[in-house]
Amino acid sequence: MLAGYNYWKGMDKIEYEKTKRQVTEILIRRVEEVIPKISKYIELAILATPLTMERYTGNRDGAAYGWSRNVFFYGSRHMNIQTPIRNLFLASNWTKIGGGVEGVMRSADRAYSLIGKADIHTSSCREYIGICLNAES
Ligand SMILES: Cc1cc2nc3c(=O)[nH]c(=O)nc-3n(C[C@H](O)[C@H](O)[C@H](O)COP(=O)(O)OP(=O)(O)OC[C@H]3O[C@@H](n4cnc5c(N)ncnc54)[C@H](O)[C@@H]3O)c2cc1C
Repeated sequence: MLAGYNYWKGMDKIEYEKTKRQVTEILIRRVEEVIPKISKYIELAILATPLTMERYTGNRDGAAYGWSRNVFFYGSRHMNIQTPIRNLFLASNWTKIGGGVEGVMRSADRAYSLIGKADIHTSSCREYIGICLNAES
């Protein structure tokens, strides 16, 4: 179930915990429509919100898959696997291939294939930093 970061971020601790319990109840009731009385067998139910994702991963706004992959800005914010710094490569869901486990694995595979090859860093630091600055705007 998708949930907005700002919705959860705006709550105080009491409201946050209460809403988490309510959402947990709603989800369990939904499941019971398919599997009746399943709640009798649930020993532990934990609900994670975008704030939980943020706490565990450090990802801004709890983004689960890194940058949005929508067509409007695909590629414009994604960091290159190659960097201006020799022998520094990035593999992550924030890089050009990344996004989900499979994307991250492919970006790591690409980074691995670049290791040890001379002079493959991007053309200039200025160009690379420009990409990062654009990402912030
Ligand atoms: C709930 C959830 C479900 C998901 N389900 C799927 C799925 O079914 N299929 C799928 O393909 N993808 C799924 N994803 C997405 C996938 O998990 C991520 O895209 C992928 O794990 C990102 O890999 P990463 O290496 O870029 O970052 P991460 O796996 O987030 O690794 C980054 C690591 O860096 C650590 N870190 C952060 N800041 C610092 C710091 N300052 N110093 C030291 N360490 C730091 C973090 O603790 C973390 O361990 C899911 C994500 C979430 C949150």
